[in-house]
Amino acid sequence: MYVYIGIGSNLGDRLANINSAIEELKNNPAIRIEKISSIIETAPVGGPSQGNYLNGVIKIKTEISAKKLLCTLQNIEKKLGRMRAIKDGPRTIDLDILLYGDKIIDEPGLQVPHPKMFEREFVMNPLLEIEPDILKQIKK
Ligand code: AMP
Repeated sequence: MYVYIGIGSNLGDRLANINSAIEELKNNPAIRIEKISSIIETAPVGGPSQGNYLNGVIKIKTEISAKKLLCTLQNIEKKLGRMRAIKDGPRTIDLDILLYGDKIIDEPGLQVPHPKMFEREFVMNPLLEIEPDILKQIKK
């Protein structure tokens, strides 16, 4: 399964946080990294006043289930010290499942495609950079 993961950070050494998260994914034997987008600086959308983000998108190949992958990503967030004090507030690292193959998932705690991805330039720009034809591949 090809899976696209959104990655973002706006606290601390943002690039180091993103690189650490990528290292964690690389070290997982069940995940193969296929592509990494440019890492771009973006203004925060919503939430309280907070610093700019660095954002990017990673394409991976994995057979881990979407649910288990979400757990894996949340464990990386925890390990890298993400705090969830304020809703939509600043974060050390944010990892989202954007697309999981062409699956549509709508469960408590997991919606794929990520419900806000299409309206977020900080997701779509890096996604289209690494996969220019992706919108044609998504079933509507
Ligand atoms: P956030 O704080 O924005 O990272 O949101 C995290 C919450 O979103 C978690 O409780 C997840 O269960 C939920 N969630 C729903 N769909 C997704 C998805 N596709 N990728 C990541 N988190 C998701």
